[in-house]
Amino acid sequence: MIKQQCCARLQSNLGPCTRRAVVERDGCFYCKQHDPEEIEKKYQIRLLKWREDHEIKIELSRRWAAETKACNGVPTETLESISVKELLDGK
Ligand SMILES: [Zn+2]
Repeated sequence: MIKQQCCARLQSNLGPCTRRAVVERDGCFYCKQHDPEEIEKKYQIRLLKWREDHEIKIELSRRWAAETKACNGVPTETLESISVKELLDGK
């Protein structure tokens, strides 16, 4: 078991991290929080989530634009009373 102090430095000149290192990466020792591989994994997860959210927003935007275009000129009261799916299904 590695008994070294984490070699990461804290932001805002707070000095070195005082936690005990649990992993060695390229000759430096890191605590669980500052392990570069863990940081990279968390970054990739956040990036993936951001991309998913972004794609959902783009799809919603496309949907809104298509609905607006399709309903152009139709009074709101008429839209409130119909279901396009039922019109398409012939009901
Ligand atoms: Zn640390």
